[in-house]
Amino acid sequence: MNIIMLGAPGTGKGTIGAEICKHYNLTHLATGDIFRDEIKRQTELGKKANEYISKGQLVPDEITIAMVEGKLDKMDGVLLDGFPRTINQAESLKKYLAEHNKEITVVINLVVPDEDIIKRTVSRVICSNKECGASYNTIFMPPKVEGICDKCGSKLIKRADDNEETIKQRLAVYYKNTEPLINYYKNEGLLESVDINIYLPTTKEITTAKSIKIIENRLNN
Ligand SMILES: [Zn+2]
Repeated sequence: MNIIMLGAPGTGKGTIGAEICKHYNLTHLATGDIFRDEIKRQTELGKKANEYISKGQLVPDEITIAMVEGKLDKMDGVLLDGFPRTINQAESLKKYLAEHNKEITVVINLVVPDEDIIKRTVSRVICSNKECGASYNTIFMPPKVEGICDKCGSKLIKRADDNEETIKQRLAVYYKNTEPLINYYKNEGLLESVDINIYLPTTKEITTAKSIKIIENRLNN
């Protein structure tokens, strides 16, 4: 089983992806992690990717594709997060999977209204103790004592980029880049959108259950 996760920043893509992986025993392949791993291990691809990243530029498709395919070679059953990002990458992935007698089971697209993403992001606070890394939300998941981490007692702080302007920009970039991909997978008959209501205390469980139901339907058809 191979699943692709799509979703704007703030939709909880990483969290839901992790839950799906746990349920099906899939490997969670997040492109950001792959980059960091290759760079840390100083592989040829990692060095090349780092040249672009350190200049704030996008890593060219051929490097990203080579990295992801290098990982896919060793794995059976993955959930891809952050890849593909372009039609070129999607085409390359399709070809790669076909050559290895594999296929994409489904593309899950998490959909949260923009105003909800903005609201949730601006109300996020994180623990200032880097080793703790706990994260809270003043609206949805407040700490027991305002401004203080439940787990370690350190001060809670806001991330500099958790402000409305930055989020709006990030969303605009995301939609511009992802729209072609969404259309591509719609045409391939693989796209399934999951609408998320972030105001429920059990949003994570509900979204995970909906996603699993979609996957089950795909597997049984
Ligand atoms: Zn803490």
